[in-house]
Amino acid sequence: MNLPASPRGGLSGTMELIDTHCHLDVAEFADDYHPVRQRAAAVGVSELIVPAVDRAGWPRLLELCRLESGCHPALGLHPLYLERHRSEDMVELTRKVAEGAVVAIGEIGLDFWEEPTESVRRRQLELFEAQLRLAKAAGLPVLLHARKAHDQVLAVLRRLRFPRGGIVHAFSGSRQQAGCYVDLGFAIGVGGTITYQRANRVRSVVADLPLTALVLETDAPDIPTATHRNERNSPEYLPEILFCLAELRSQDPHLVAATTSRNARALFQLS
Ligand SMILES: [Zn+2]
Repeated sequence: MNLPASPRGGLSGTMELIDTHCHLDVAEFADDYHPVRQRAAAVGVSELIVPAVDRAGWPRLLELCRLESGCHPALGLHPLYLERHRSEDMVELTRKVAEGAVVAIGEIGLDFWEEPTESVRRRQLELFEAQLRLAKAAGLPVLLHARKAHDQVLAVLRRLRFPRGGIVHAFSGSRQQAGCYVDLGFAIGVGGTITYQRANRVRSVVADLPLTALVLETDAPDIPTATHRNERNSPEYLPEILFCLAELRSQDPHLVAATTSRNARALFQLS
């Protein structure tokens, strides 16, 4: 990837970026989330969406978003942590949503990566549906986590006539599946995976989709870019994803930054 000579200096003040999926609340950032947030702001990251994985993490996540400027909470119950979730958690989630505490429900979805048993699949599906129904009733978008389950996720969204859209986080499906999500009002989350040359399919999918269907994300501390391989990922590296996406699409990075940020603002109704 060819970065401009000074992406840091070149960005500040001229481009606004939104990290639509950043776990700034997790233990990996416990000692330095504030300086990380400041460094991200210095390279143009004006807003971050901070998604949850389980109820135990909600209080800290909400507190962090209260303390740090431009950080917006999404609460939800992640499909991979079924054993941590309790039925009361849906009651609490409903209460938090009613309080107006969140900009989205997430991250939620289906994860069939490790080929779970039929009963685990069914429990994932029940949890996913319950949260989609809550989001639908509240008029909130959702942050989707879907691995080896795009067709099943799409089927549920269609069956529930989910109206509000959201983001398919860390998308790695086909062009055809991406098109189905876009038709349902979803944006495709573009992250560090695209900086790896071997990621041929996802690189060609994000190059081909309309820019109005894309948003940027780091998924920090996970999914680092190629230049930070094996390091802790950070929202301050979001410009690398921007420049890579602009290069793959042969578009001006300013246009890509402005459009993806506008897409994210519209989705989460950020002022
Ligand atoms: Zn995540």
